[in-house]
Amino acid sequence: MKKILVLNSGSTTVKYQLFLMDGQKHQVLAKGMAERIGISGSSVSMSVDENEKLVKEVELHNHIEAIKEVLNMLLSGPIKSVEEIDAVGHRMGHGGEYFDKSVVIDEDVLDKAREAGDLLPLHGAAFLYGIDAITELLPKVKQVATFDSSFHQSMKKEAFLYAIPLEQYEKHKIRRYGFHGTSHKYVAEEAAKMLGYKGKFISCHLGGGASVTAIEDGKSVDTSMGFTPMAGMIMGTRCGDIDPYIPLHIMKTQNKTADEVNAMLNKESGWCGLTRGYTDLRDIEEQYLEGNQDAITAVDVYVHALIKYIGAYMAVLGGVDAIIFTAGIGENSSFIRKKVCERLKFLGIELNEEANHLRGQATEITTPSSKVKVLVIPTNEELMIAEDTYALLHDNVVLMEKAS
Ligand code: AMP
Repeated sequence: MKKILVLNSGSTTVKYQLFLMDGQKHQVLAKGMAERIGISGSSVSMSVDENEKLVKEVELHNHIEAIKEVLNMLLSGPIKSVEEIDAVGHRMGHGGEYFDKSVVIDEDVLDKAREAGDLLPLHGAAFLYGIDAITELLPKVKQVATFDSSFHQSMKKEAFLYAIPLEQYEKHKIRRYGFHGTSHKYVAEEAAKMLGYKGKFISCHLGGGASVTAIEDGKSVDTSMGFTPMAGMIMGTRCGDIDPYIPLHIMKTQNKTADEVNAMLNKESGWCGLTRGYTDLRDIEEQYLEGNQDAITAVDVYVHALIKYIGAYMAVLGGVDAIIFTAGIGENSSFIRKKVCERLKFLGIELNEEANHLRGQATEITTPSSKVKVLVIPTNEELMIAEDTYALLHDNVVLMEKAS
């Protein structure tokens, strides 16, 4: 049995989960987050079960202070000594072309992760703050990095190359990388368990960020995010796919800087841009039902973009066995799922209305006679990271092969 701490470090937050891993079995001993790091009003929280949540308001100037407080909170119950933590798994953003699987962190991994992190438009370094903090606070503990892009390293050139001068790829590493890989891999593995075969899956991770992935035989074949997580589906505040000339045109004609356009496309677009300020689908659904025309149009644009991806990836895969919905919107919005399934009726998809309203568990939401299965699978990136970290504590485990 091993205790694995999983950290997901953002620019102002650290989310964590402490797992007890034992072979194929696992238990969550505690989870929570440090919030508003470096901003006033910061706090640390911990839940050991559904009913109990500890919150401590404390000034957190940086990630080291935040993780120190997280460890202190864990010491108040789930562990008696930090020595009990066998390893720490970190969620990382960009692994570039360096990492097609999770790796034990050493200086070489850190150098490559820093270089790859620079490819991200926002907060590329935030993922590294957690590693720096653990290195300082728990210098002896084994640390593992799990990259959002690794799962997509199986894409072939035809899927990852952009049609721009080749030297942009060869010299400057500009290509499609894809993200949310840990989530897509997790739900594809869960779908394979549910159905009893790996097959051809289209995984729709629809949350604040959103991406769609074509998966065959457990491997990513194509994915909607690209060089950065700005590409592809419409997201909470990110634009997704747009004509590449649009940013240049805005800069030229509206006298805006690259940073200003970046902020517009990353933080003021997507659902937010289309609805003049709403980013949470719960609010947008409410506005939709009240007849707010912007909300109605935004939902139509979103569903249209999603079925375009599903259609394209069916062509790429040569068919589809199952469409998987996951993440905040995918798991919770029966409203969006119903609209998507209605548009895909021509495929012989038959929605089971009752199952579509179930929450919180992996569910098949189509009828037994539906030609394509539609599954809702709650994602669990933290568990995937804990499993990879646990596997790397034992020798000779090749993680990419684990999925095949
Ligand atoms: P995530 O990034 O996966 O945490 O997803 C967050 C997003 O999921 C929120 O911004 C909402 O748009 C959406 N969401 C969460 N809960 C619900 C719900 N009950 N109904 C509709 N959308 C939801």
